Amino acid sequence: MSKNPIRVTRSSMPPMEEYIQEIKPLWESHWLTNMGDYHQELERQLTKYLEVPNLSLFANGHMALELTLQAMHLSGEVITTPFTFASTTHAIVRNGLKPVFCDIDPKDFTIDAEKIKELINENTCAILPVHVYGHICNVEAIEAIARRHKLKVIYDAAHAFGETLRGAGVGSFGDASIFSFHATKVFHTIEGGASAYGQKALGEELYQLKNFGILSETAVEGVGSNAKMNEFQAAMGICNLRHFQEETQKRRTAFLRYRERLEGRRGIVLPKEQEGVTHNYGYFPVVFEESECGFSRDAVYDNLKAHNVYARKYFYPLTSDFACYHGRFDSSATPVARHISQRVLTLPLYAGLSRREVDRICRLVLATKQEV
Ligand SMILES: *Cc1c(COP(=O)(O)O)cnc(C)c1O
Repeated sequence: MSKNPIRVTRSSMPPMEEYIQEIKPLWESHWLTNMGDYHQELERQLTKYLEVPNLSLFANGHMALELTLQAMHLSGEVITTPFTFASTTHAIVRNGLKPVFCDIDPKDFTIDAEKIKELINENTCAILPVHVYGHICNVEAIEAIARRHKLKVIYDAAHAFGETLRGAGVGSFGDASIFSFHATKVFHTIEGGASAYGQKALGEELYQLKNFGILSETAVEGVGSNAKMNEFQAAMGICNLRHFQEETQKRRTAFLRYRERLEGRRGIVLPKEQEGVTHNYGYFPVVFEESECGFSRDAVYDNLKAHNVYARKYFYPLTSDFACYHGRFDSSATPVARHISQRVLTLPLYAGLSRREVDRICRLVLATKQEV
């Protein structure tokens, strides 16, 4: 039995020689950042691969989101989900906007489109849903609401790289979608991210905002930030993109093995593949209903940890319960999100995870005894 720790994910790496070959020209060019050749090439490749109209690279996914919101010149309230990573909510707040939390759908944990309408008022300017775990939101319903109320829609697609819905790239919905290329995501550039968007004009604004708002040598037009992807990051992306399909197939094999081993157990709710969606199999979130299966999420987490397996409580706590937002939000207003957040555990899933390791993790999950 393996003594090495198994973590929730493990960064995929291209063959070392491939990366070295890729970056060799940088020693000749001395052009290391500031939208160089690799940056331009990766932008071209990803625009095509993701089937999106336009795409702009960033130093990380969070800055892609923060600056995309800034580029839209929004003010007021943004309807969003508390069942997400810190970045989503922080990006809203750091833009001086107010997050308004909508509950989630108990089936796929994405924002419950039915419940968006009742949160709209004259201050609402946008909707920021999350394709959480790569589950694609109810994009048709969201688009209909947004059109009726003239709201912007920005998707946090950090988990949904490479996915399609009925043949359309996931990043082609709404006004913009942001992706994360962090080392722990299914496709990565070590750190990195992108914003995919419909309106070409937004691109000029994003280009300036990620480079201090600089328009030309002597003109600074916006209060920008510094969020440029460098050439080494872009080169890593170019290499990793070549292997993405193959890695996805490996994750799919592990995903299906998990399902096979854990299926049909009372109180253990497994992720399902959505109809019409090509998934990237980035996560394996399991909900443990203690009253039915006899043990809690925390007991499973502890049991795995005692055996050197590190699952993660994604997403607990809800972002609306973070200490930094103490007293500002009430998570009892999103009871489904709260329920799931207290019971969900994301099991390890990555391309190199073997069938034997999946089987071992499943045995440990099923052997969990409740603490008394
Ligand atoms: C990872 C992630 C981000 C932020 O991405 P970084 O590239 O790490 O800045 C945003 N939203 C969600 C839901 C994420 O999981």
